[in-house]
Amino acid sequence: NKKPKIVILGAGYGGMIVASRLQKSTVVKDAEVTLVNKHDYHYQTTWLHEPAAGTMHPDKTRMKIDSVIDTQKINFVKDTVVEIKREEKKVVLSNLELDYDYLVLGLGSVPETFGIPGVKEHAFSIRSVNSVRLIKDHMEYQFASYNKQDEKFEETLTFVVAGAGFTGIEFVGELTERIPELCEMYDIPREKVRLVSVEAAPTALPGFDEELVEYAMNVLESRGVEFMINTPIKEVREDGVLLNDDSFIKSSTVVWTTGVRGNPVVEKSGFDAMRGRIKVTDDLRSPEDENIFVIGDCSLIINEEINRPYPPTAQIAIQQAYTCANNLKALVEGKKELETFKPDIKGTVASLGGKEAIGIVGSRKVYGNSASVVKKMIDNRYLLMLGGMPLVIKKGKWKMF
Ligand code: FAD
Repeated sequence: NKKPKIVILGAGYGGMIVASRLQKSTVVKDAEVTLVNKHDYHYQTTWLHEPAAGTMHPDKTRMKIDSVIDTQKINFVKDTVVEIKREEKKVVLSNLELDYDYLVLGLGSVPETFGIPGVKEHAFSIRSVNSVRLIKDHMEYQFASYNKQDEKFEETLTFVVAGAGFTGIEFVGELTERIPELCEMYDIPREKVRLVSVEAAPTALPGFDEELVEYAMNVLESRGVEFMINTPIKEVREDGVLLNDDSFIKSSTVVWTTGVRGNPVVEKSGFDAMRGRIKVTDDLRSPEDENIFVIGDCSLIINEEINRPYPPTAQIAIQQAYTCANNLKALVEGKKELETFKPDIKGTVASLGGKEAIGIVGSRKVYGNSASVVKKMIDNRYLLMLGGMPLVIKKGKWKMF
């Protein structure tokens, strides 16, 4: 009577919460649980705009997996997932293969390029600790090298953020805090620096309340952001971006934040997917695979009220992880009845840098410093769920006012 094998792929919001729920349950006695992740640390994707801009040290966003997960109870494998061989119930990693009876797919997402030429080659992305450290170092290098130029090149200090959705706006907000510091550090007048937010849709923050969008744009414009709304980008080149009307913005720094698609492992493994996301059943399984759960940005669930997919968020990934852990426990105990997943959207708060934010909490609109405090409380609440008060004290956000 061999113990069933549960393999969790990805130690992001979804994977970490599943692992932490299972380690507190009887599942770790009744099954063999393994967590696989590319790095030996977990990072908070929702904080990455801060180390990208340089307003937070990258180490603050990450924590060693074994500082939160008890590796006596859950095996941890540091490796990269290459492919899932569904017929054979095997996961191919870069260095080994793992068998599973139940699989949790929580590998997150990658930037959506919409096939626009040059994005992969010439734009930066806010995706991982390493990708954001590169943005920060590159930006500092631009400031440092400007002083050395005899003939000043405008592209050196022109920063283009492609996409004024949630991530793009939060990043631009951080940059409005960081750029004055960099100007001071490198003896450069603020007016030499351009910060341009380019958005293809007819509005910034599409889908957000209009009044909040206006508030956000006013705050950011007052800090020197140039918005180019309704402006699709045709191509990214080494020296800038080509817009749909064939005008060109010279820039040595283009950061791509126009949305995400599911991890490429999904398509490589032959799942039926839309933009790399698997439309899951009510109990969060892949419709073709009754032993594979899919959570977080690799999953797609429909908001019945508007008949459109929910945008992928950490909030949903975390809630799915709770249901997924309960359902794994039920299966290990031989039960047939599984829990149905119902998202409970508590609101959305976008930071605008410093002590400014906007958002909806419940059905209330929040602005300014109070919104920023709510945002920090949301961040701390996740740490509390994951590692209790010691983790909040170690990694939490305390500068509230
Ligand atoms: P992730 O948390 O991204 O984790 C995926 C994990 O898989 C990572 O640890 C990664 O290293 C690992 N991995 C990836 N590929 C492989 C591989 N091949 N092999 C092994 N390991 C691999 N959502 C909100 O709800 N609220 C917010 O305020 C918010 N703000 C955001 C701000 C920014 C700047 C960004 C970029 C996103 C924000 N989001 C927010 C969205 C949120 O971060 C994602 O929806 C969430 O991270 C998805 O969780 P996940 O568990 O699916 O994946």
